[in-house]
Amino acid sequence: MNIKDIIAKKRDKLVLTKEEINFFVTEYTNGNITDYQAAALIMAIYINGLNKEETTNLTLEMAKSGEILDLSMISKNVIDKHSTGGVGDKITLILMPIIASLGIPVAKMSGRGLGFTGGTVDKLESIPGYKTDIAIDKFIENVKDIGISLIGQTGNLAPADKKIYALRDTINCVNSMPLIASSIMSKKIAAGANKIVLDVTCGSGAFMKTKEDAITLSNIMKEIGNLANRETICVITNMEEPVGYNIGNSLEIIETVECLKENIREDIKEIVTTIGSYIIKLAGFGDNLEENKIKILENIKNGKAYNKFLELVKNQNGDIEFIKDTNKFERAKFILPVVCEKDGYVASLNAEEVGKISVNLGAGRLKKEDNIDKTVGIVLNKKTGDNVKIGDILAFVYANNETKGYIAVKELNKAYEFSNEPVKMKKNILGII
Ligand code: URA
Repeated sequence: MNIKDIIAKKRDKLVLTKEEINFFVTEYTNGNITDYQAAALIMAIYINGLNKEETTNLTLEMAKSGEILDLSMISKNVIDKHSTGGVGDKITLILMPIIASLGIPVAKMSGRGLGFTGGTVDKLESIPGYKTDIAIDKFIENVKDIGISLIGQTGNLAPADKKIYALRDTINCVNSMPLIASSIMSKKIAAGANKIVLDVTCGSGAFMKTKEDAITLSNIMKEIGNLANRETICVITNMEEPVGYNIGNSLEIIETVECLKENIREDIKEIVTTIGSYIIKLAGFGDNLEENKIKILENIKNGKAYNKFLELVKNQNGDIEFIKDTNKFERAKFILPVVCEKDGYVASLNAEEVGKISVNLGAGRLKKEDNIDKTVGIVLNKKTGDNVKIGDILAFVYANNETKGYIAVKELNKAYEFSNEPVKMKKNILGII
């Protein structure tokens, strides 16, 4: 077997066998296939797709490329949650401490920013000292000790996905249903939780632009989860505009802390309580979804969720003084207002554009080796439905390069659309699968 034949097969729209997929995954992970050959195959998959069986095989091979954890010694039910990616998506950071504060063990392995979307690991690393790269033993110990650990794709867990994920980002092959499904589910299977809740984002700021695609992706991932004995629920959420108000790494940590202190905006509240209510149900902590939502809000109100976040940060070596006083986070050099040029209502704010602007400011990577700038990003002041007047501030751009900052201001202005009439708000939750 050789990689050139496998590339040619997929280029010619043929179906790859389990052995061929195993060969690619194993040899690429071991460094015996070059990045340019892997890139050619990934591009062929992007263009010609994978059928259900190929997708399942790719997922299982990527999961098997490293260790597969068994967390059953922690609890009968260990919960994992993953988002298919979005702009300003800090739901994991807010929700997982809430879940842990309810006594449900959380063992979560997150990803880095991909394409125009941000990544939880990059955001966590903007907390000085926070270690996302910890040994598996310590990961398990942390979950046993304090009920939560949030780490990166560390050590030997799904190393094939780690390599392919980074490569896809740099060759513009992120937005592919079989590649997203296999990437997410391989990590989830390897990370050892037996119950998985997926936030399948949908809209301009997501990889799935339509509800139909989000449903198809949900069904693929649910089926893979069931095959691997991981009960999986997908919550389809609206990603037409960014989630919440802050976009950018440390800016999103700051908003997370605000939410955990009860300063929680409606869109975030609805997504957090809905996804959370299913997590609580799967964990066997309550079948009534409405009651579960109340439990979530209670633990925000009584400070237990915030305290769990502090405990998490401390336990992973992060400096909790930055959480206690978020003014300690370094600010970008230039904070530039985006001024409204119209009277009326915000009709829409294109999340993909906002994500791209944020990446161009340095909050994400253009090449796989790029370092990210933790301080840059965007703070929104107006979102869809808001009444605006000429001269109002729509948003602030946080930049460390003045020229890039002014370009971002111009582009952000274009990402907003306005209407003379009040705007009907879209739903935050589009479906449950
Ligand atoms: N999140 C992942 O982990 N992988 C993808 O491919 C997309 C989003």
